[in-house]
Order: sequence, then structure tokens, then C-alpha cells
Amino acid sequence: MALSFQDLRLSSSLLSSLHELGYETPTPIQAESIPVLLDGRDISAQAQTGTGKTAAFALPILSRIELAKKEPQAIIITPTRELAIQVAEAFQSYAKHLKGFHVAPIYGGQDYQVQLRALKRGVHVVVGTPGRVMDHFRRGSLSAQTVKTVVLDEADEMLKMGFIDDVEWILQQIPHEHQTALFSATMPSSIQTIAKRYLNDPERIQIKPTTQNVGTIEQSYISLARNQKMDVLTRYLEIENVTAAIIFASTKNCSQEVADKLLARGYGAAALNGDMNQSMREKVIGQIKKGSIDIIVATDVAARGIDVDRITHVINYDIPYDAESYVHRIGRTGRAGRAGKALMFVTSRERYLLKDIERSIKQKIQQIEPPTIAEMKEKRTEALTEKVINIIAKSKKLGPYQQLVLDIMAKSNDEPVDIAAAVMYLMEQANPMPTEEIQAAKPEFERKHRGKPKRFRGKPSGGRSESRSRPSGGRSEGRGKRSFKDSKDGYGGKRKTFKSNAPKGRAKSRSRAN
Ligand code: AMP
Repeated sequence: MALSFQDLRLSSSLLSSLHELGYETPTPIQAESIPVLLDGRDISAQAQTGTGKTAAFALPILSRIELAKKEPQAIIITPTRELAIQVAEAFQSYAKHLKGFHVAPIYGGQDYQVQLRALKRGVHVVVGTPGRVMDHFRRGSLSAQTVKTVVLDEADEMLKMGFIDDVEWILQQIPHEHQTALFSATMPSSIQTIAKRYLNDPERIQIKPTTQNVGTIEQSYISLARNQKMDVLTRYLEIENVTAAIIFASTKNCSQEVADKLLARGYGAAALNGDMNQSMREKVIGQIKKGSIDIIVATDVAARGIDVDRITHVINYDIPYDAESYVHRIGRTGRAGRAGKALMFVTSRERYLLKDIERSIKQKIQQIEPPTIAEMKEKRTEALTEKVINIIAKSKKLGPYQQLVLDIMAKSNDEPVDIAAAVMYLMEQANPMPTEEIQAAKPEFERKHRGKPKRFRGKPSGGRSESRSRPSGGRSEGRGKRSFKDSKDGYGGKRKTFKSNAPKGRAKSRSRAN
């Protein structure tokens, strides 16, 4: 049985925030780090962006914070101003129910006065870039005396950017006993040296790779921006021969939101998540087994152990946090030796996770392009042709319509082929083809712009462009089921025009700012 947040001894106000954010279970890095950090021990964790590492250190810090003491009790050092802001926002959202909690991001490029005022007012947590934290220590506006926990976030990035001496200087300012947590995607020797020098008997945390075989499932991924996910998903469902699909979302809110949007777009879809009780979940599983719905949008916990033969496709709408969940998710298709396809959406910020998964399954996952308009046209034409031929061969209800064609011919002198073409044109108007192609995200953007490690003072230079934003919980209305069997050609039935309200990915660029 997987660990829950309750098992992690987190306070009830933190549990409420996590519930509201739609977090269902701790990610592997959270499950391993939180208990150790709550015990006050040091950790050295190998974890990348996207694994949930921010909550892995923020939740135990918040659990131990003394709200009555308005003094810096934890300092988080981050390589960039954008990460500092993002981490500070994460603290704020987890601390939603901690009355009087204050966190201050302090980073280069921002006016000192703003930061001085925030520090003077009294803050419990400071999140900052190395240079600016150093400056505040030197000025005396930030004191190390009260600090109980120091977190080095993305330590290898700080090394690459040439900040490691500053980081050491900061660590030397806190001579008294305190807790240190080091998070780094990689562990080059200089980071290991820092760990040896400044960490006290740390617990080493690394998420174990899995060796499970994923056999014959055809695996692919699409590189995209977060706000393109819904459009790419519906285009993919349209061009693929899907009998039934499981779509995996990272949070309960997201699973509900995607299911609602699919319903609004005419698909027979339902959410399956930890907010539903056992009998509701069983009902949904029964529906997909019978074929009364064709898509479930699930979270990992809720989908555990689902065994439905009809599932031809698994779509990772949100990338899983580790290779083990990936293998578990895609194993929901290709049951009993049948063919199955697995697709994964990967934003540029999540490419590290993709590489990890590939390493663990010892297999390259093929990158594919978002479906094109030409592919959608071809699919619609194919489906329509098949449907028309079938109706002519089998339906006994065409009599009145034949009479209608004859009447139109008599009235207009048009040929039957023109009348048929006009009818098809009218059908397409009810469900128009998109007019714009979706361009795949360019994943290498960040690397090209990163350049050599050196100190940088000045304007942001661009960088990572995507981050998983918090679920918005927005729901869209609309019912009207669309089954793959009947109307997947997209010509039949009423369709609502639908404006995507997918949560916009925070398109912040990361910069060296100190
Ligand atoms: P991070 O690796 O800290 O940048 O987190 C990546 C994303 O995962 C963030 O958008 C978090 O809000 C989200 N996240 C973190 N922990 C969980 C969890 N246990 N369940 C669902 N989403 C999470």
C-alpha cells in the first residue's frame, strides 16, 4: 500500500492545503525525504525539477516552523530568481492555512528597499539567490542566528553557473547546529565535496530505477507546452484507432478537469480519482469494461490494478514522477499479449524525467509530432467513407431520404453527386477542421541559451520556459457523449464550440540573476 500524506505526520493545516491543491499521494522523493527532514536530519537527495522536490523540503520546514517567532528559520538557496519566486509561491500555497506565515523571495535585480522592508517586517522563510543572500548577510539585514534549516536547491545548477563559492560562504555563516538539505539533479564531485564538508551524516536519497519489462507496448512522446496539452490530446484521440483509453493526470483536480473537457468535446469520458469512494470508482471501471464509456482520466492511486482488456491506449497527460509509475501506468494497456500504445506529453522542463524513464526501462521512447491537419482530414475521410458505405449496405431507413434527394434534383436540376457533396459540406460545418497546426515545443531552447558558467549581473537571458503550474480546478460544462464506435469521424452529431480553458503554463524564463 502506498504511503499517504497522512502517514507522513504532516499537520492538519498542511494536509488541508494539499487536499485543496489536489495532491493525492506523496511523490517518491517526498515519501523518502519528508520523514527524514521531519526528524531533523540532513539529506542529500538526487532529484530533478518536476519530481515534487519543492514540497519534499517545504512541507517538513512548514511543519516545524514556529509561527510566533517572526525570524528567519529556514533559508532556501536557489540558482535563479525565477526558481526563488516559484519556490516562495509554493511555500505560500502550502502555508495557506498557517495564519501569519511569511516567506520572502530575495534575488538580484530587485530593489533592495522592497526586500529590506519584507525582512524588517519579519519573515519565517527566506528564498534567495546566492549573491543577494550574501549581500543581505553582509549588510546585517539578514541574520544567520535564528536559521534552523538550510536548503540548497538545484545545487548542480549553482555549480554550473559559478555560484558555488558564494554558496560555501553562506554555509560558513551558519556555524551553529542546524539542518542542511541538498537537492541536486546530478552529483558531480564538487557537489559531493560540499556534501561531505557541510552535511552531517546525511541520509542519501535516490529514487531507484526499475527493471520491469514493458514488452511490446508501442511507446512515444510529444514535446509540447503545457497549454497545448488539451488540443493535442483531442487531435490524437481523433486520428488514432482508440477502442478505450486511460489518461493519467498528476492530480485529482486535473483528472476531473480533463474528464470534464473531454465530455464537453463530446467524448464518453469519466474521472477516476481518490476523491471518489469505492463504489463510485467501481461504477466507472464497470462502465469502461462494458464500453458505455471509452475514456477514463485517472490518477495513479485510483488506477492501481485496473485490468480492462479493451484499453488500447495509455496517455500520460502529465509525465509520471518516476520510471516505476511509468511502467505501471503503461502496463494498463497491452493486456494478455494484445497490442497497446502509450503516449506521453513532455514539456521542455520535464525532459530530465523523460531521460530518467528511458534509462530505467533501457529503451528509447520515440518522439512523435503533434497530429497534423492533413492526418485529421485523412482520418475523417476514411471514417466517413466507411460509414456511408455501411449505411447504404445495411440501413433500411434510407427511403425518405432518397425521396428527398429526388425532390431536390427535380427542383434544382442538380446532379446527385453535387447534392451529396453539399450534404457532406454542411456536416463538416457542424464540426469544422482546425485551421492551425500545433507546433511541437523546442526542447533544446534552454541549453542553447545557457552558455558557459559565469557570474552574470543584468537582465534575464531567457531559459526554461515551462513549469507545471498548479491545477486551476476550473471546470467546463457540457455533456453529450461521443463514442469512438459511432461518431468518431467527427461529422455526425452536435458539437459545442469549445474554447480551451486549460491552465496556462507559467512561461517564466529562468535567468542568472544575482
Ligand atoms: P517540483 O519538482 O517541486 O518543481 O514540482 C513539480 C510539480 O509537481 C509542481 O507543479 C507541483 O505543484 C506538483 N506536485 C508536487 N508534489 C505533488 C504531488 N504529491 N501530487 C501532485 N502534484 C505534485
